[in-house]
Amino acid sequence: MGPEHVSATQGPSGAIARSADRCDACGAGPDERHGRPLNVHEVWVYDDVKHVQTLVGLRPLCGTCSACVHIGRTGAVAIERGGIDMNELRDHMAKVNGYTRAEIDQHITAAFRLWRARSDFPNWCQDYGEHAAVMTVENLKGSPRIR
Ligand SMILES: [Zn+2]
Repeated sequence: MGPEHVSATQGPSGAIARSADRCDACGAGPDERHGRPLNVHEVWVYDDVKHVQTLVGLRPLCGTCSACVHIGRTGAVAIERGGIDMNELRDHMAKVNGYTRAEIDQHITAAFRLWRARSDFPNWCQDYGEHAAVMTVENLKGSPRIR
């Protein structure tokens, strides 16, 4: 899969994270107790025929919403390191989206199915769209999920 996350402290994402004061999904502020800014989530649109993912937006998310958006990665980290309450995250997703827990579980199942199908194609191309001018190698240096 292609890039999904840019470091919250670098490049254009860092500027957005520093300037945003609320999570775009749930309204939470930065985690000031732990000194963490909001994360910046890249919003991609996928062309499943041409295998091109296009960056259509950047949005500030709190750590909890970011963990929910990347539920697969979060689940892997939970298994590896522990200390993450996946049920708590599901409850957060349900509350923020106005869904029942059953609807959230269906959504997660569907998201994993789509992710697996898209992962069958290993060479997705990225189109940074209107963000291309700021999505430079220098700005993205150190981003863990960029390939
Ligand atoms: Zn949030």
